[in-house]
Amino acid sequence: MRKPLMAGNWKMNFNHLEAIHLVQKLAFTFTDDDYNTVDIAVLPPFTSIRSVETLIHGDGLKLQFGSQDISAFESGAYTGEISGVMLAKLGCHYSVVGHSERRLFHGETNEIVSKKARAALSHSITPIICVGESLEVREAGNHVSYTLDQVEKSLEGLSAENVAAIVIAYEPVWAIGTGKVATAQDAEEVASGIRKWISNRFTTKIGEQTRILYGGSVKASNIAEIMAGPNVDGALIGGASLDPDEFVAICRFRLH
Ligand code: PEP
Repeated sequence: MRKPLMAGNWKMNFNHLEAIHLVQKLAFTFTDDDYNTVDIAVLPPFTSIRSVETLIHGDGLKLQFGSQDISAFESGAYTGEISGVMLAKLGCHYSVVGHSERRLFHGETNEIVSKKARAALSHSITPIICVGESLEVREAGNHVSYTLDQVEKSLEGLSAENVAAIVIAYEPVWAIGTGKVATAQDAEEVASGIRKWISNRFTTKIGEQTRILYGGSVKASNIAEIMAGPNVDGALIGGASLDPDEFVAICRFRLH
């Protein structure tokens, strides 16, 4: 069975001291029961990863962590970029690739996203590959085909074994940071479409292994309903992950 993953995307929030403070609060609250039932990850800005890593490893916490982006390149003259080798050295479990904010504000195409996903995998970092449609596409009723096209192109060059190990986050752009949540049925419709596509393209077994998350205005009050979808294996959480009580409550969705 797929273990659910709750990943907090902090976006461009918190300096390294604030990051330590938040991780300490989470560490005080989460118990082995939480970690046994759900993989819990924080995704701080690059400048806080080292501090978060020191705390997590120093205290032997079972909290996972990762980055919000990764370079498609290994090393060299790429000013401002952070490579997979650097992130792997810090012990990152995950790298988000192709978040809609990066697709929108930094011109990341599906081709770049697939390169970044391969860069992560080559350093044993799990890419969290984000896909999802705009409001325009949703209103035209093309959300499933649009998202599957993004999945196909973003997974270009990945082996079946790679696909079993990745995480895909379905994040309808119109639901990110807007307070508009896709219904549990909306999330399940696209998640099941993605799983079927993977099963057809690779094998049913691979399709059963890939974790598919939902992201977009997830809160403690709506997570249980979203998680009821059999193909939804967790969530990528933005705003609500900045509040420790809210994030803990999301991770404890089974208790709602
Ligand atoms: C995100 O940043 O991936 C996200 C889903 O944000 P929010 O939860 O704030 O909508």
